[in-house]
This record gives sequence, structure tokens and C-alpha cells, in this order.
Amino acid sequence: MNNVDIRRKARKDYFCVRISVINCFLLKARDGYLLIDTGYPGGYRQFIKGLKKIEIDISEIKYILLTHHHFDHTGLAAQLLKDTGAKLIVHKASIPLLEKGVTKMGRGVNLLIKIVMSAFSFFSVGAYSPVTICEEDYIVDGDDADLLKEIGIDGIILYTPGHTEDSISVLLSDGSAFVGGVAVNFIITPYHIIIDDIDDVHNSWERLIKHGAKTIYPAHGKPFGIERLVACKEKRRV
Ligand SMILES: [Zn+2]
Ligand SMILES: [Zn+2]
Repeated sequence: MNNVDIRRKARKDYFCVRISVINCFLLKARDGYLLIDTGYPGGYRQFIKGLKKIEIDISEIKYILLTHHHFDHTGLAAQLLKDTGAKLIVHKASIPLLEKGVTKMGRGVNLLIKIVMSAFSFFSVGAYSPVTICEEDYIVDGDDADLLKEIGIDGIILYTPGHTEDSISVLLSDGSAFVGGVAVNFIITPYHIIIDDIDDVHNSWERLIKHGAKTIYPAHGKPFGIERLVACKEKRRV
């Protein structure tokens, strides 16, 4: 598939750049693009290559929204902010962690994940270049119905904690929901392998459903229909 075909196929005003196992999304804003999440530290070349494929120049990125502070979402934030001069959009609770460049992990959903996580923390995985918050940046504290509209995107920001306490999602008026880690598409489950608070996860899903989410675009895995979250919520199982 050539570049023109890719653009034609992605006719919903959004694009996806994959860095390893993370999806970074780009939404068309009034004066350029909003980038949702920035991928792992060390993924810079892969990101630039991905941008080229979809024919977006790095200078067209005008806003960078971080769905939460985990290193696989914030790894390139400091570098990209420097390269682009983009404005940052983050939840208030992310700030102290971003400024230190640290990842605060929740709990693993099962014993195996817990063992893997303790090995990871032994090797200090989770660090990234600290992100400096500037006066012009946008700090979200709860839901925000206006910010995206101000920059030319027909959607809202929802506060969706559960995977982390600082998680936010972008919900477009057509029902597309870019949710970071609050729901994922791993092999059999939309639950993330790391969870801060399971009740918050369910409440966040409920709020996405109530606000009209139709298709979930997770940071990890392929998009899926909202009915999967509805079914899982009803079972209330991890
Ligand atoms: Zn995460
Ligand atoms: Zn992640």
C-alpha cells in the first residue's frame, strides 16, 4: 500500500503511528495535528519513520496530549515538545511524575504480571526524559468539554482513571474514543495488565459508554466496539 492509499484509507481525520506495541494517534486540528501519546524512550526513529509514511511533517504537530504518565506513552514527549514547540495537554495529576520522568506502576492483574513487574522495577524500567510544563500548556483537572473544540477538534476530554489516577481519554463526537490504557485489546481481555483501581476502570468505561463512545482506540492493540466493554462490565471480572 503506498502513502496515498494510506491517506485515503484513513479518512476519519485521524492517523496512527505504531511504535513497537503502542499506538500513537494523530487527530486533525485547526492548525495542524494533535498527537495522542508519544511512545517509548528510544522510539524516536520509528516514530519519525511512521510520520513519513502518513505524510505528516513533524512541524505539523501543534498539540501533544498524554493519556497518562507511563513511560511507554511519555517516552518521546520531552524531545517532541522541543522539536515541535507543541503545546502539552495533560491531567493535573501527571505533572509531578512528568517533571521527574518517573512511572508509578499500579498492581499487576495476576501473579505472573506481578513477578514480571518486580523484575522490571529491579532494572529501573519506567524512566523517561523529564517533561517541563510551560505556562502555555493545558492542564486538565477532570472532564473538559471546551478545550478540543477550541483547537478545532469536535470532541471532549474525559477523565478516565483506573489504569492510573491521571488517565484521560479523547472522545470524538462520532463516538471514536482514544483511551490510552484504560481499556486495551490484548488477546482475550480489554483489561490492562496493570491496574490502579478496578472500580475506577469500570466507572471510566461506564462514563465512556454514557457519553456515546462507539469505537475504542486503545494505546495497545487494535480498535474494538464498545459492546465489548459493556459485556465485560456486566460480568465485573478481571
Ligand atoms: Zn500505562
Ligand atoms: Zn501503555
